[in-house]
Amino acid sequence: MRHLICPRFCRYYKPDKTEDPGCGGLEYLKRRPELAGQVPSLAPPSRDPLYGLSPDDPRLLVVCGMCAFLVDGCDFRDPLVSDEECEPCGGLKVVAGLLAAGLELGL
Ligand code: SF4
Repeated sequence: MRHLICPRFCRYYKPDKTEDPGCGGLEYLKRRPELAGQVPSLAPPSRDPLYGLSPDDPRLLVVCGMCAFLVDGCDFRDPLVSDEECEPCGGLKVVAGLLAAGLELGL
C-alpha cells in the first residue's frame, strides 16, 4: 500500500526515508488491503487536496485521530499553521479520494 500511495500522493514523501508507522491514512489503508486495487485509478488531487471533502469531515477526523503524527508532527492538523503552508499527507488524501468516489470505508 505504501508504494501505491506515498510517491504519488504525499508532498512529504522522501524515497530514502521510511517512517514506520506511517501516517494515519496509510496505516488505515494497510489494514484494508482489499482497497489496494482502487488506489491506482485515483488521480492525485489537482486543486482540492481532499477531493471536495471538508477537513472536518468526521470520517477524516477518525483517521487523523489514529495517526502517530497528530500530536506533534502534522502541519495540516496544527492550528498554528496556515492552510497555504501545508497540505494533508498522502494517506489522508487517498482516504478522502476513495470516500469522494463513493466507497463505504466504514469510518
Ligand atoms: S493529515 Fe496529519 S494527522 Fe491526518 S493522517 Fe495525515 S499526517 Fe496524520
